[in-house]
Amino acid sequence: MTPTHRLLLFVGPLSLVVALLTGVQAAQAAEPPARTPDRIAYDVALRADATGTRWTGRERISFTHTGTGPALREVYVRLWGNGADGCGGAGATPPVRVSRVAGGVADAPSVNCTALRVRLAHPLARGARTSVSFDVSLTVPDRMARFGRGGPYRYLGNALPVLAVRDGRGWHLDPDVGFGESYFTLAADFHVVLEHPAALTVPATGTTTTRAARAGRAVTVSTARRVRDFAWAAGPFRTAAATSPGGVRVRAFWTEDTDPDGVALARAESAGAVDAFGERFGRYPYGELDIVLSPDFAVFGSMEYPGFVLLWTDRDGSGAAHEIAHQWWYGIVGDDEYADPWLDEAFATYAQDLFHGESGQDCWSQVYWPRPDAAITDSMGYWAEPPGPVGWTSVVYRAGSCALHDLERELGTPVMERMLRTYAADHWYGVSTDADFLRAARTAAGRDLTAFWAAHRIEAGPAGSRR
Ligand SMILES: [Zn+2]
Repeated sequence: MTPTHRLLLFVGPLSLVVALLTGVQAAQAAEPPARTPDRIAYDVALRADATGTRWTGRERISFTHTGTGPALREVYVRLWGNGADGCGGAGATPPVRVSRVAGGVADAPSVNCTALRVRLAHPLARGARTSVSFDVSLTVPDRMARFGRGGPYRYLGNALPVLAVRDGRGWHLDPDVGFGESYFTLAADFHVVLEHPAALTVPATGTTTTRAARAGRAVTVSTARRVRDFAWAAGPFRTAAATSPGGVRVRAFWTEDTDPDGVALARAESAGAVDAFGERFGRYPYGELDIVLSPDFAVFGSMEYPGFVLLWTDRDGSGAAHEIAHQWWYGIVGDDEYADPWLDEAFATYAQDLFHGESGQDCWSQVYWPRPDAAITDSMGYWAEPPGPVGWTSVVYRAGSCALHDLERELGTPVMERMLRTYAADHWYGVSTDADFLRAARTAAGRDLTAFWAAHRIEAGPAGSRR
């Protein structure tokens, strides 16, 4: 994401501080990930009320136990839409509710109502496949947010329940820290049917078609393959679509109060960025990209979802390049966004710089280190501690991208470009870790880079993911 401008006021100038050499570890050979459940398919049918505020229906999640070890006895469903409101307090109901679970038995929600354990009806042997299904109720909160609303417009980012990941370290049940992303999901296939008032236009992840239904209603059907999440919006958007020279259908949706010049700039930058990054990192695989534009996103910034981005847009345009770079860094090449936020944010910021022809020459003057022990590789748990988001944006986004610019200077541009293409291809639709990236860079360089990582406060291994 790109946080709002209030969080991007870097407190400078500070030059690159020589990092402490203690605690820096070289990339270590990672164990096989054994992530489970995988080969996930979501089958969803939801019906909206008259304003698109409330969506109710059924969700089925099919999956295979791909992990090592004994049979899988449980899965966790993440209800990230409850991140801001939690369980809603006494007498209130959380925005995301699940009921009538089939295929297992659900506990009471945990982790501030963002995690739901479902004990499977039958233990699932390694390699076996099953499904759980449940009724889902989504009530769009009355605030401007990724899952929120403004005027007649509804945004459903991180609203749909998704499966958590288990690996050698157990289930990933990290909390929503109130900013950025704590999410971690495996690539999955989605088939989503949204029934809604015909007066509401519905952009969404995936390849989307809308047909008229009876009594002033419409049905939007979206199919998405190998994506980590599914988001949509609903409202009386103005729309336009064009196909980029590289063949990606870019559909634009904007609120009535969006500046027309900003719309034109955002559309042009989006088409340019999806093609440029496709050439640089590997062709954009989804065919369609929906951009949703509004000046009202200023309160939170901009946000990426697979094939669907929310872009804070004013007359000067938007941060399209950054959010579209996330289609590769987080989306196609996944990461644990709680443990390793730099693997998506630093890479999106670096890619955004390249798109704008910036080489990061004066990069470090914009970096502020909030604490002496801060590292680019720190987790969201670290950044949730004071001073919070200011340090996160400065170090993860800016210092992280500066380090990548320096790495490009260290390796040379052709080697850096080749390395990133190979790194993307090696983790295409998969998950990358700190150690994976450091290994890719070392292989491309053909020499040890330990001193480089140390000088840039990039710490792979346990220290790099401290909570
Ligand atoms: Zn971002």
